[in-house]
Amino acid sequence: MKRYSAFAIAREAFRQHKGWDRAWASPEPKKDYEVVIIGAGGHGLATAYYLGKNFGITNVAIIEKGWLGGGNTGRNTTIIRSNYLQDPSAAIYEKARSLYETLSQDLNYNIMFSPRGVLMLAQTEHEVRGYKRTAQANSLQGVTTEFIGPQQVKKICPIMNIDGPRYPVLGGLWQARGGTARHDAVAWGYARACSDMGMHILQKTEVTGVTQDGGTVTGVDTTRGHIGCKKLGIVVAGHSGVVADMAGFRLPIESVPLQALVSEPIKPCMDIVVMANTVHGYMSQSDKGEMVIGGGTDSFNGYHQRGSFHHLEETVRALIETFPMIARLKMLRHWGGIVDVTGDRSPILSKTPLGNCFINSGWGTGGFKAIPGSGWGFAELMAKGHSPLTAEFGLDRFREGRFIDESVAAGVAH
Ligand SMILES: Cc1cc2nc3c(=O)[nH]c(=O)nc-3n(C[C@H](O)[C@H](O)[C@H](O)COP(=O)(O)OP(=O)(O)OC[C@H]3O[C@@H](n4cnc5c(N)ncnc54)[C@H](O)[C@@H]3O)c2cc1C
Repeated sequence: MKRYSAFAIAREAFRQHKGWDRAWASPEPKKDYEVVIIGAGGHGLATAYYLGKNFGITNVAIIEKGWLGGGNTGRNTTIIRSNYLQDPSAAIYEKARSLYETLSQDLNYNIMFSPRGVLMLAQTEHEVRGYKRTAQANSLQGVTTEFIGPQQVKKICPIMNIDGPRYPVLGGLWQARGGTARHDAVAWGYARACSDMGMHILQKTEVTGVTQDGGTVTGVDTTRGHIGCKKLGIVVAGHSGVVADMAGFRLPIESVPLQALVSEPIKPCMDIVVMANTVHGYMSQSDKGEMVIGGGTDSFNGYHQRGSFHHLEETVRALIETFPMIARLKMLRHWGGIVDVTGDRSPILSKTPLGNCFINSGWGTGGFKAIPGSGWGFAELMAKGHSPLTAEFGLDRFREGRFIDESVAAGVAH
C-alpha cells in the first residue's frame, strides 16, 4: 500500500486525486483462517494488527456484522488517560496511552492524538482524599499525574465556575499527557494496516453460531457461510454476553446503553478535557468547535443504541452548573452505544472454557483509551497463551474474589 505523506498529497493534487488506493480491501471470505476475530471495533482491529506486527500471524479474518468502527469505537467521546488506581489497570492503560503518542507514525495514518490534558474534578472531601491517593499510586506506577488546587484548576480552565452552589471545586487530578484522539481514525488506521498485511476484514457478516468439537472451537457460522479457524477471539463489546452464549459459556457482565451529545460549534473556549464525577458529566471541545458531552449509563439492561431522556437532562444540568457559559448553547445531536460492564469495572482479557477461544470484553464506559494496549496484550495472550499485560484480567478472578476494583477511576462514564 502506498504511504501517506506530504509528498503523496502534493503528487495526487496534480492528478485530481485519482491515484489513491482503497484504504482496505473487501475480500470474499476464505474457508478457514488461522485466527478469526469477531468484532471490527478498535479492540478487535488492534488485536489483529499486533498479531501481525508482533507475532507474524497474518492469516486472520476480522468479522463484523455492521461496518468497521460502527459500534462503540465510533460512538465514544474519545477521552484518553491512564490515571487508574490499581497496578494492573495502570499498566495496561499507560501502555495504551504511550502507544497512542506515536500511533499516527506507526500506522502511517493521522489519528489526531491530542494530549491536551485531562482533569478530574474533586468536589467533595471524599474525592480529594481519593484523588490524592490515586496521584500517589500513579507516581509509584510511573504514571505522571498530580493533584492540583482550585486556583490552578481555574487557571487551566478559565470557563469553569469553581464556586458552584452545591459542589464547589476543591481541586482535581490532572494528567497533562492525557487527551483525545479521532475515534474513527483509530479504527480506520488499524484496518488499513491489517488489510495491508493481507488480513481479511469481512464487513456486513454476522456471526450466528460458534461450532465446536470436544471443547475446541472449529469455526463460526456466519451470514456468509461457515468459516473455520484454529483460534477464535471474541471482541464484541456490548454483545459479549450474546456471543459467549453462542459459544456455551456465561459472562459476569451487564450490557447497558451509554450516551453522549454534542453542541453546535462555537469558538475555541476550552483546551482540556474536564470530568466531574460528583455532579456527573464531562466535557471537551472538538476540533470543529462542538462541545462534546458525556453522561451516565442507563440503570437497566438494554441493547438499544440510544439512552433514556432523563440522563440527558441530568447531564446537561450538571454541566451548566460547572460551566454556566454553555447554558445558551443548542445541542446538535445525541446518540448511544451499548457498553458491557463488569462488577469491578475492569475488563476481561481471558482464556475461556473452550481451549482455543479467547475473550476481550468488559471495557464498559472507558475502553477507547485502552485500544492499543488491549490489542497489544490480547494479541500476546492469543499467540502465546499468556501476557503480563492481561494476566490479572482473567475470568477466574470473579470466582476467586481477586477483583480489580476501579469503581472510583471509572466513576463517571468516559
Ligand atoms: C457514548 C459513549 C462514550 C464513551 N466515551 C468513552 C471515552 O471518552 N473514553 C473511553 O476510553 N471510552 C469511552 N467509551 C467506551 C468505548 O467506546 C468502548 O469501551 C470501546 O469502544 C469498545 O471497543 P470495542 O472494539 O471493544 O467495541 P465496539 O467498537 O463496539 O466493536 C465491537 C464490534 O462487534 C460487532 N459485533 C457484535 N456482535 C457481532 C456478531 N454477532 N458478529 C459480528 N460482529 C459483531 C459490533 O457490530 C461492533 O462493531 C464510550 C462509549 C460510549 C457508548
